[in-house]
Amino acid sequence: MEKKMILDGNAVAASVKESLKERITLLAQAGITPCLATILVGDDPSSETYVRMKGNACEKLGIISKRIHLPKETTTEELLETITGLNEDENVHGILLQHPVPEQIDERKAFETIAIEKDVDGVTSLGYGQTAFGFGVYPSCTPAAILEIMDFYNIDASGKHAVVVGRSPILGKPVSALLLNRNATVTTCHSYTTNLEQFVKQADIVVAAVGKPNFIQGAWIKEGAVVLDAGYNKGNIGDADYESCAEKASAITPVPGGVGPVTISMLLKHTVIAAEKGMSKKTSTL
Ligand code: NAP
Repeated sequence: MEKKMILDGNAVAASVKESLKERITLLAQAGITPCLATILVGDDPSSETYVRMKGNACEKLGIISKRIHLPKETTTEELLETITGLNEDENVHGILLQHPVPEQIDERKAFETIAIEKDVDGVTSLGYGQTAFGFGVYPSCTPAAILEIMDFYNIDASGKHAVVVGRSPILGKPVSALLLNRNATVTTCHSYTTNLEQFVKQADIVVAAVGKPNFIQGAWIKEGAVVLDAGYNKGNIGDADYESCAEKASAITPVPGGVGPVTISMLLKHTVIAAEKGMSKKTSTL
């Protein structure tokens, strides 16, 4: 039997960050420091942790982290005003609005207010549409991370049957679109799918994006399939049952240390691209 590949997200993330260092140095020579603005509304502890992790990752690499923390009573209008201000601020290259926002806020309206050229987290419907059409610059970060891992390990999707379990706007749907654009035959499953197991059993590539701990079972995995687990549940548990899936898979992402670290590095990469695009705009108008 062929050797099993453990798809090491930390190694992929390290390689992405290393390549970004050079690009950040080039930007610095042109007097530009990439800047990611993060907006946190309210005081949900997990959201605070996520935003802090993202901000710290930026600073470690030399990207400015502009952290905006709004009170939990913030209205939709107030949030839109903040976003509009950031859209207009030419020193801000990317904007990340941490999900979820308090329930009085129209989250979709807030996401849609983010300018497409600053939508580095891939949350706007325009960005999603562009990703699906195949010319999106900033796909959502977790789908982008999944593709980055596949590229790093030379896993070709072309002609393969990919089964994505989950269809959320930030994960299941865009990763299905990206895999389709890579010429996979894609089946997207969700909570109304009947005989889920039968679909997963046919998959050459399984993407677990369901939000339920240890949900995908090894018994459902075809011998030699690739398992990409985007799940992240309490206690560092993925959406695929690692032990049983690893017995069948030819390659698998662990949790933690798989898709998660690469997701953050995609946010950094997108922010650097946004700064580079800003630089080329500036030079072209000189
Ligand atoms: P979500 O919005 O809750 O979506 C879950 C999806 O799974 C939905 O499409 C749902 O179907 C489907 N589903 C639920 N129960 C199912 C079942 N029994 N059978 C088949 N499908 C079922 O979750 P999400 O935001 O996409 O996140 C999914 C996972 O990825 C979570 O574990 C989350 O923590 C993780 N995640 C990780 C990162 C990262 O950086 N690594 C980032 C984002 C998310 P319906 O549409 O029919 O409801």
